[in-house]
Amino acid sequence: MRLHLASANAHKVAEFSALAEEAGLPVEIVSARAVGGMPPVVEDTGTFAGNAAKKARALHARLPEGSWVLADDSGLSVAALGGQPGVESAYYAGPQGDGAANLRKLVRAMHGVPAGKRSAHFTCVLVLIDGRGHELVFEGRCDGHLRDDPVGGGGFGYDPLFVPNGYTQTFAELSEAEKNGISHRGRAWARLVEWWRRHGPSA
Ligand code: IMP
Repeated sequence: MRLHLASANAHKVAEFSALAEEAGLPVEIVSARAVGGMPPVVEDTGTFAGNAAKKARALHARLPEGSWVLADDSGLSVAALGGQPGVESAYYAGPQGDGAANLRKLVRAMHGVPAGKRSAHFTCVLVLIDGRGHELVFEGRCDGHLRDDPVGGGGFGYDPLFVPNGYTQTFAELSEAEKNGISHRGRAWARLVEWWRRHGPSA
């Protein structure tokens, strides 16, 4: 069956396709690009769950009745910055959504913050709209702290600064499989898979 992803981002389509295949879910992840493009959505709800639901509903409204849709929203919340960048994570340094500039801005914002006060967490919320139009919400969180300076060449976004609890390396130093095993996205996805195995269609 087709599971429509409320994103036109090829990286996300590939990532969710790999996760679905690995979990043995009987779905083909379909990019919004394949169904006329992702409708513009203003991510202004102030919460990850609200923004993910908005994206899911926007695409769902364009599709034939009975379609299944998946949307995600994620970001990094830093305690010393009052939760920033939070839902603004993608646009922290400006509307162009430049990951490297966002990382530089976070390094500067955290300059001088002492070791014990550098806690942060990533959040990912997945919203699934099923064939009857019901919305299901799956959330994952990963707690850790921020280094002073970025290290590691893997991952994306804020990964080179974020050290998950129980580790000494940053997300950017872990393999993709290691990161997925403990990340906010991996955890939210694991919850969705658990739900699917109990309630989702088997073909
Ligand atoms: P999106 O909503 O999943 O596209 O992500 C929002 C933003 O949060 C990204 O542009 C990154 O800045 C940040 N982000 C989300 N997940 C991660 C992650 O796993 N590593 C690093 N940054 C992330």
